[in-house]
Amino acid sequence: MANDPNAVISDADYRSIFDKANDGIFIHDINTFKVTDANQRGCEMFCYPQDEILRLNAEELFPGPPPYTRKNILSFFEKASRGDQQLFEWASKDKAGRPFWIEVNLRRSLIGPKYRLLAVVRDITERKYIEERLKDVELRFRKALFYSPFPVMIYSEDGKVLLLNKAWTESTGYSREDIPTVSAWAGKTCGERMRPVKVDINRLYKLDERVKEGEYIVTAKDGGKRIWDMSSAPFGTLPNGKRMVLSMATDITERKEAEKKILELNTELVRSNALLKQLTVKDSHTGLYNHRYLEEAIEREFSRAKRQDSPLSVIMMDIDYFKSINDAYGHQFGDLVLRQFAAQLTKAVRRYDIVIRFGGEEFIVISPGTGAAGAMTLAKRILSVVNAYDFGNKKHRIKMKLSIAVISYPDDRVTKAMDLVDMADKALGKAKEEGGNMVFSPEDMGAERPRATEGALKGAADVKAMKEKLDKLTKRVKQSLFESIFAFAKTIELKDHYTGEHAEKMAGYAAEIARMMHLAPEQIEHIRQASILHDLGKIGISDKILHKKSKLTKKEFEEIRAHPQIAVDILRPIHFMSDIIPLILHHHERWDGKGYPTGLKGQEIPIGARIIAIADVYQALTSVRPYHEAYPKKDAIKILKKGAGTQFDPNIVNIFLRILKRESHRKNPKT
Ligand code: GH3
Ligand code: MG
Ligand code: MG
Repeated sequence: MANDPNAVISDADYRSIFDKANDGIFIHDINTFKVTDANQRGCEMFCYPQDEILRLNAEELFPGPPPYTRKNILSFFEKASRGDQQLFEWASKDKAGRPFWIEVNLRRSLIGPKYRLLAVVRDITERKYIEERLKDVELRFRKALFYSPFPVMIYSEDGKVLLLNKAWTESTGYSREDIPTVSAWAGKTCGERMRPVKVDINRLYKLDERVKEGEYIVTAKDGGKRIWDMSSAPFGTLPNGKRMVLSMATDITERKEAEKKILELNTELVRSNALLKQLTVKDSHTGLYNHRYLEEAIEREFSRAKRQDSPLSVIMMDIDYFKSINDAYGHQFGDLVLRQFAAQLTKAVRRYDIVIRFGGEEFIVISPGTGAAGAMTLAKRILSVVNAYDFGNKKHRIKMKLSIAVISYPDDRVTKAMDLVDMADKALGKAKEEGGNMVFSPEDMGAERPRATEGALKGAADVKAMKEKLDKLTKRVKQSLFESIFAFAKTIELKDHYTGEHAEKMAGYAAEIARMMHLAPEQIEHIRQASILHDLGKIGISDKILHKKSKLTKKEFEEIRAHPQIAVDILRPIHFMSDIIPLILHHHERWDGKGYPTGLKGQEIPIGARIIAIADVYQALTSVRPYHEAYPKKDAIKILKKGAGTQFDPNIVNIFLRILKRESHRKNPKT
């Protein structure tokens, strides 16, 4: 019956529909459109009592604001009365004027014997409200999408770009006209490095969620580059059945840059950490590893050697007489030499050897994989490299000697890593004792030579011991003059505590006289050196005589007179001392020939010896001696004047007096 608008409805049906309906039902006269019947629900909907509603005509029942006018409602009724079913939505009002939405299904029906108009009215206010809200939401959504700070593009699955939002066009400079399709967009903007990922639309729709595409380098119209992190989401279907994709970008250019910076900073940090570590294990002066690194390195290499069953050697070195190099040329020069030494050492070893500055002028080479024989060869090579090299600068060139010890695992009895160092240290001591400038290994230590007892040298036995010691020294010395001079001067000091300073002071006077006499620089240097060593022979004289306060016996005096000769005996083995030996031998000769040991006279006496004689006497007079107090300067000068021409060369006395006068003038300019 529902399909046929003109279907006949039985009375029973009519009542049943009428009473049970959820919708309002109104029956109108087909000509006047007046309400002839209304069910309960209909009355409630419009808030009319039954008897009132039955008097209303169509336009009174369905009043509305424009465009829901009287004319319109009548037009629906007219059409329906001609047999055209009408279905429409209508903004209505109830009796009290409250607006509400209705949906009206209006048709012509044969009710009883007559055609009437049947209006089924449904309250759709809620649905309408939701629809309105939805429209509003959609609008807002569209706005949000359009003005979103994130670039957004919507395209259909055939590649047509449907929408580009403001952020997209603004940040790229491209409008939708420039890039009508996705491939045009990709071709124009996506750089070489990151090609756009082809979006798999089937997969996208199957997952039905946002999917990350990856990072694009996007080239804007003005050439500027941005990095976009893209993702895609399904966006519904077009009326033509094509699916849409929403493509959204996050501009991560700044973040990427920050990440890059952080990465750079990190690398920098790692680098400077490594540098810091280097600094703590490296000696800044030579650039070699320092002693802090030694323990770490030796433990590591030793356990590796044991694990891999491979040999390991330690070569320890100590430069001979290094102190005297400082003494002679200054600390700065010593520093330079140490740097040069480190460079030579580094050059001489193999690539995998670890070179360490153990102490001031002591070095260690850790040589992994090298056995005793190989280490010995390496040590000898180092020694010959060092011996051959001219150390120093343009002003001073020096040769260096080096004592070396070699210890090897497993050839030597090494049980723990530090044994290598301890044993090397011992062997090095032996190498020094043997005269230095040699390589020593435990093998060489079988027959230990008795060590000379230092300090307690006595009388003639001392001379023998001294000679013996000198034999050793000559072996290790031969180096340069200054080393021996200082070593010997030290020995004298032990014997006669004031002689050391005495020697230095008088050496100053003697050199000054020599300069005033315009002697050759070489000669001046010999005089200075002879001055320092002139009393070396006293080493052979007993302390009892040397420190005696009362007058010496003839025999004792004889003994004292031997000291120049003793010095010569000591020094003779050192061939480079030959030039200064005569000066020492004759420093107690007298101008009148009455001196000792040979009784030379006047010009026969070497000029250096004549100078030393004067400087020696003056220095002895003006300082405290066991047998007299210090003479005042003027008394000492008197004695010198008295001795001029008898004890002393009168010319030299005159020159010396000039020096003293100048000296006291400098000290006290007013006198
Ligand atoms: P030997 O080893 O032959 O017994 O004599 P040596 O003079 O080398 O003796 P020693 O080992 O006692 O003295 C080492 C000297 O090295 C002491 C110090 O004056 C000097 N020295 C140590 N470190 C430095 C440094 O960094 N620069 C300089 N210029 N000298 C240093
Ligand atoms: Mg040393
Ligand atoms: Mg040394």
